[in-house]
Amino acid sequence: MEIKKLLEESSHYIMNTYNRFPVALRKGRGMKVWGSDGKEYLDFVGGIAVNILGHCHPKVVVAIQKQAQRLLHVSNLYHIEPQIKLARLLVEHSFADKVFFCNSGAEANEAAIKLARKYAKEHSGKDKFEIITALNSFHGRTLATVTATGQEKFQKGFEPLVPGFKYVPFNDINALKSLINQNTCAVMLEPIQGEGGVKIPDPDYLKNVRELCNGHNLLLLLDEVQTGMGRTGKLFAYEHFNFTPDIVTLAKGLGGGVPIGATLASDKVASAFVPGSHASTFGGNPLVCTAAIATIETLLEDGFILDQCRRMGEYLTEGLKNLQKEFSSVIIDIRGMGLLIGMELTRDCSSIVKACMEKGLLLNCTAGSVLRFTPPLIVQEKDIDHMLDILGEVLSSLS
Ligand SMILES: *Cc1c(COP(=O)(O)O)cnc(C)c1O
Repeated sequence: MEIKKLLEESSHYIMNTYNRFPVALRKGRGMKVWGSDGKEYLDFVGGIAVNILGHCHPKVVVAIQKQAQRLLHVSNLYHIEPQIKLARLLVEHSFADKVFFCNSGAEANEAAIKLARKYAKEHSGKDKFEIITALNSFHGRTLATVTATGQEKFQKGFEPLVPGFKYVPFNDINALKSLINQNTCAVMLEPIQGEGGVKIPDPDYLKNVRELCNGHNLLLLLDEVQTGMGRTGKLFAYEHFNFTPDIVTLAKGLGGGVPIGATLASDKVASAFVPGSHASTFGGNPLVCTAAIATIETLLEDGFILDQCRRMGEYLTEGLKNLQKEFSSVIIDIRGMGLLIGMELTRDCSSIVKACMEKGLLLNCTAGSVLRFTPPLIVQEKDIDHMLDILGEVLSSLS
């Protein structure tokens, strides 16, 4: 179908919830995707931190093909072998003892919120239900997770919101301290605020939050939907910050491109969920778990990709810092960890993203003025050089 017709039908049949670019992407391999017109793009968005192994990684594709022939879905009325294997992999490589599977980041956070409330009510009393989250955070679009999201722009029009959430500035331990009261049951944070503009806390912040939680008998929920699965150069971002959370949520990179979410917890916390507490029809189905197993096994093989992620993160940051020297009136800051990198500009970045796209480069703009780089972790120096060339051309055409 011609692009004009596709765009017409898209707006005719699909609810208008996204501002989309006027292209339809049809095919992908590694770092590249192609539009319906055959145009090639270098992909530094990676499905918004989802395609950690690049597009159509052969190990993931073959695993999906084999599983699709064997069994797609049976429901959680029965045990599912790939689900058990995936849970074991996640447990063996994290602080956690138990896993609940669902289909997205919002659902993983929804489960975390429900688990925290149930645990607190059973262990500390019925008035313990309040969860403190950070301003400028992002936790999803369901009613509870959009309430947890500390940004009014996502909540507007959906009131009344879910009761029991309070907000503090991110990276401010004293603000957090002063908001804790007898109703507080948990603190919920992203280790690095992704959608909020790649905001990285001080090295001690999360450790201090942990100590504060210990002192007040609060659970610490960590939303690693964006930062997890190797994105920051370690399998989980909490590993950089010297503390252990009580609950961690995963989604984006977990399935290497298929929709899967997970809520990880210690045995003590997980035991608040019993049969009937929570459920998901599709959660942890054979197909998506098989894709996630292939993704994690490939990611952890020899530690090669995590190592690559750290090295390419440094290389990319250095390249962006060179651009900053050249365009110091437009670029305010470069910050990141591994391959989650933000470039803050003095201006709205949407026109830059558009111009890059015309030159065959996909970039993402978040929080209005932050270019966010979340390429697949398999990105190579030549891809980064190519990206920097295009971005440099676009930046120089601005002035
Ligand atoms: C993307 C994201 C979510 C929401 O995930 P969905 O799969 O879109 O529901 C939640 N938390 C964080 C930190 C995210 O980046």
